[in-house]
Amino acid sequence: MHSRPHDPFVRVRGAREHNLQGVDVDIPRDVLAVFTGVSGSGKSSLAFGTIYAEAQRRYFESVAPYARRLIHQVGAPKVGEITGLPPAVSLQQRRSAPTSRSSVGTVTTLSNSLRMLFSRAGTYPEGAERLDSDAFSPNTAAGACPECHGLGRVHRTTEELLVPDPSLSIREGAVAAWPGAWQGKNLRDVLDTLGHDVDRPWRELPPEDREWILFTDEQPVVTVHPVRDAGRIQRPYQGTYMSARRYVMKTFSDSKSQTLRAKAERFLTSAPCPACGGSRLRPEAMAVTFAGRTIAELAALPLSELADALAGAADSSETARVLTGDLLARIATVTELGLGYLSPDRATPTLSAGELQRLRLATQLRSGLFGVVYVLDEPSAGLHPADTEALLTVLDRLKDAGNSVFVVEHHLDVVRHADWLVDVGPQAGEHGGKVLHSGPVAELAGVDASATARFLFNDEPPADRQVRTPQGWLKLGPVSRHNLREVTAEVPLGAFTAVTGVSGSGKSTLVGEITEELAGVGRLVCVDQKPIGRTPRSNLATYTGLFDVVRKVFAATGTAKERGYGVGRFSFNVAGGRCETCQGEGFVSVELLFLPSTYAPCPDCAGARYNPETLEVTYHGRNIAQVLDLTVEAAADFFADTDTPAVVRSLRTLLDVGLGYLRLGQPATELSGGEAQRIKLASELQRVRRGHTLYLLDEPTTGLHPADVEVLTHRLHELVDAGNSVVVVEHDMAVVAGADWVIDLGPGGGDRGGLIVAAGTPAQVARAEGSRTAPYLARARG
Ligand code: ADP
Ligand code: ADP
Ligand code: ZN
Ligand code: ZN
Repeated sequence: MHSRPHDPFVRVRGAREHNLQGVDVDIPRDVLAVFTGVSGSGKSSLAFGTIYAEAQRRYFESVAPYARRLIHQVGAPKVGEITGLPPAVSLQQRRSAPTSRSSVGTVTTLSNSLRMLFSRAGTYPEGAERLDSDAFSPNTAAGACPECHGLGRVHRTTEELLVPDPSLSIREGAVAAWPGAWQGKNLRDVLDTLGHDVDRPWRELPPEDREWILFTDEQPVVTVHPVRDAGRIQRPYQGTYMSARRYVMKTFSDSKSQTLRAKAERFLTSAPCPACGGSRLRPEAMAVTFAGRTIAELAALPLSELADALAGAADSSETARVLTGDLLARIATVTELGLGYLSPDRATPTLSAGELQRLRLATQLRSGLFGVVYVLDEPSAGLHPADTEALLTVLDRLKDAGNSVFVVEHHLDVVRHADWLVDVGPQAGEHGGKVLHSGPVAELAGVDASATARFLFNDEPPADRQVRTPQGWLKLGPVSRHNLREVTAEVPLGAFTAVTGVSGSGKSTLVGEITEELAGVGRLVCVDQKPIGRTPRSNLATYTGLFDVVRKVFAATGTAKERGYGVGRFSFNVAGGRCETCQGEGFVSVELLFLPSTYAPCPDCAGARYNPETLEVTYHGRNIAQVLDLTVEAAADFFADTDTPAVVRSLRTLLDVGLGYLRLGQPATELSGGEAQRIKLASELQRVRRGHTLYLLDEPTTGLHPADVEVLTHRLHELVDAGNSVVVVEHDMAVVAGADWVIDLGPGGGDRGGLIVAAGTPAQVARAEGSRTAPYLARARG
């Protein structure tokens, strides 16, 4: 195939990545194209795994010819040919966690501009020298407060924390902060040798001794003659003393062990740094102001207020006018995407994936790039229907600047707005992977096999249903946290509750108050979207416990018994059965000079994770690597004929929440937030329990096609019918309309929200005045 000059299409031929079945598809450039299809149908494999990956590969080749060899190793996407492909920029949600020092200001680069503003146009104290813009950054040596190294907080400890029970003697363990075992005994013996009474209650020791024992910076070395311990004679040795504070601080800052660090943290309180007052900056930088405030004060304002403050001082000088003009324009795009409640100093790990992606999107809008294809992953995630309009405007502007915008989306308003629709299906995994439609949205109407068509063109109002009568009420509050001020709420028990409101209105903060101690709840289960593991060593099978059973099954085979292979042999986490080249990861890391490091399949086991001997053991014709490679659906078939009821039950619950397309060994790092959440839900459903449980879910429909939403909602309603309570934070009005009770927060985000605007049945809330949710809920009720 030869592309004609000025051929306005991206033409994909023979795409076979993951489950794609030799897909041929033509998508026009310079349009907003939306990719739809049920979860696991192959949308991402086409948009990200093929189109974006190929653009990326070509980019690597062009900037670094030496990378060719490495790319070969990493693997190019499985596709015959792609023509007409512009360079691509991906804004994907499945990303590794950003560092804790990154913030809204750094992601949007607003921090840089603010620093420039302070450097060039700030008000300096009389006689002070102008500072470089670096001097306004806590992340540089030039700017960081020397006391707290730019962290803004300092850790302290007190006698009360270190010695919680002063009636104990040192021998009885008065110093709770000390390490256990030999090391703790050593410190005690050193003190004994130094002449301290280790058998008197702590509170009776002289204050100056207590002070020294806990807080000294001295580290005396003495010869310890250990007392006979259980008849064993121990030699004298040189013991070094270390005060409890020193030990705790050292462990907290240096220990590689998460457990030890967490233990040390219990003996510390953290307080704002006294030198910089938490601003993280040097005093010289804090002496400079703009609009009457320091840079730290401005960075703590929500963006919408920051804009007001900057606008007020814009004409203080010509430089100020230019620099604030640029800042204001950039803040405006972020605010437009419904994120005006965020402040530049807000740390990115506290943001949701959706918020982060929209921040990146806003940043791209100002980048001035054109002629590229942007590939996005569900930009509507976390967005209230009232803000979807703004999202569409932003996508249109990216397009109007001369770019192609390819979006994987489920939100029907976004789908309807598209210039072009690529519908993938018909089902998930091996039952999907075909393009059912590529063309204008309206033409999907004629495609019978499409699950999307059923929802896109369905005008029937949902069937009337009876709302449940609550079995009781859970009283929350008064809550004063983040933007909530003395808010009280009541959550019905034995019912399905939806918590709604625009992004930043306080939904997560409110439901975060629901705790196990609250009356009436037997057990609380939070099913969030946090990853089920942060390394490729955790996967679907290990998380659900399925893998334990599978390993037992393999250990019980004839071959395994003959060879003396136990359960451990079939683990890829310990030496023995695993491939040692990759230590059971299946991948090795490839360092690319100047580029982010990436992973390539292990040269020895080719991703199998096990050594050849282990792989010789088979169960019903498959080795353990092949079993891990099965999708949940295929595994259900495979195990159905075997005598393993526990495995079958576990697989059943995964199928029930629509995860049949995932592979058992799919690494945790490859799963989206929504998938992780459904895995957690499935493992909860698997545990049969009596008694009342409250299930709390934050946006469970993220990443789900309306058809998958139906399945999931059905499961949640079954839980309520079985006597449990369900509370969901939700933007999908189809789910909200089907709830028994709605709590609507708002009216806006941040300080403009934080109130309960309406609470009642969906019918009541749909009529509530002043609620931004009401009109959308009314529409969904038909
Ligand atoms: P969608 O985006 O429509 O939800 P995906 O493109 O993510 O679907 O997945 C399509 C199929 O490819 C699924 O069966 C999925 O399990 C499989 N798949 C996804 N990622 C990988 C991977 N890294 N390796 C192998 N298979 C994968
Ligand atoms: P929603 O769930 O409705 O999107 P949140 O409860 O997450 O809203 O946020 C409510 C307000 O609290 C917002 O102004 C948000 O910026 C703020 N907020 C939320 N989490 C944090 C946090 N970890 N640190 C500081 N502010 C936060
Ligand atoms: Zn400081
Ligand atoms: Zn290997």
